[in-house]
Amino acid sequence: MSETLTLRVLRYDPDRDTEPRTQDYTVPLRDEWVVLDALAYVKDELDPTLAYRGSCHMALCGSCGMMIDRQPKLACHTFLRDYRGKVLLIEPLDHFPIERDLIVDQDGFLEKLASLYPYLIAEHERTVEQGEYRQLPTELAKFRPFAQCINCLLCYAACPQMAINPDFAGPAALALAHRYNQDSRDAGELARAEVTDSPHGVWDCTFVGACSTVCPKQVDPAAAIQQTKISASYRWLKARLLPGGKP
Ligand code: SF4
Repeated sequence: MSETLTLRVLRYDPDRDTEPRTQDYTVPLRDEWVVLDALAYVKDELDPTLAYRGSCHMALCGSCGMMIDRQPKLACHTFLRDYRGKVLLIEPLDHFPIERDLIVDQDGFLEKLASLYPYLIAEHERTVEQGEYRQLPTELAKFRPFAQCINCLLCYAACPQMAINPDFAGPAALALAHRYNQDSRDAGELARAEVTDSPHGVWDCTFVGACSTVCPKQVDPAAAIQQTKISASYRWLKARLLPGGKP
C-alpha cells in the first residue's frame, strides 16, 4: 500500500457495547476515492462487522449521511484527498439515536414527515378522461427547489435546535411540507398547518440557517421555514379577524 489515511470510526453495537467507542482503520489514500469507498474497503478487506448505509454513490439516494471530521456530509461526496495528513473522524449523524455503528434510527424523522402529509392532496380528483394536471413553468418554479430533497438528514445533524429540542419537526420535513403547499395542484395546506403552525412546527426554528448551509441539494430549508412562518402568521390573523374564526 502506498499513501494511506487513518479513519477513526465510531463503533457501537447496542447488544454488546455499554457505550460508543472508536476504532482506527488504515485505508489506501486514492485521489479518486470518497469516504464511502474507504468504508467499503474497511468492510470488504479489514472488518466485515462495520455497519453503515450507502447505495447510489451519486448523491441521489441520501443514505450515506454521516459526520465526517465533525461536519454533516454525504460519504459519497466527500473525497479522502481533502483530509491528507489527518486522522479522519467518522461518526453517525448528530441528533439521532445510534442503531449500530454509523447507522442512525430514522423512525422519529419518518413519523414527523408522515404527520405533514408529504404528498399531493388534490381538491378535486381528476378522472383519466380529464387528463393530466397541467402547470405553468412559473408554477413549477415555485416548488421545484424544495422538491430536490433526498432525505439525507444532514440538515437535522446541523440544526442547533434539534440538539436541544428533539420534538422540533425539523428542516427537511418542514421544507417538504412547504414544497407541497407551494404546488398549484395541492389543497392540503390547512391539513399540514396542524403541524407547521404548532409550537414544534416552524416556530421552533430560530433561523440559524445551518440546515441550508450543509444541504447537498441546495434545498434551502431555512427559506422554506421562514416562508411558512409568514403563511402561519397570516392564518393566525385571519382566524382572529374573520367571522367564524376560521383561516
Ligand atoms: S433538506 Fe437538504 S440536507 Fe435536509 S434532508 Fe433534504 S437534501 Fe438532505
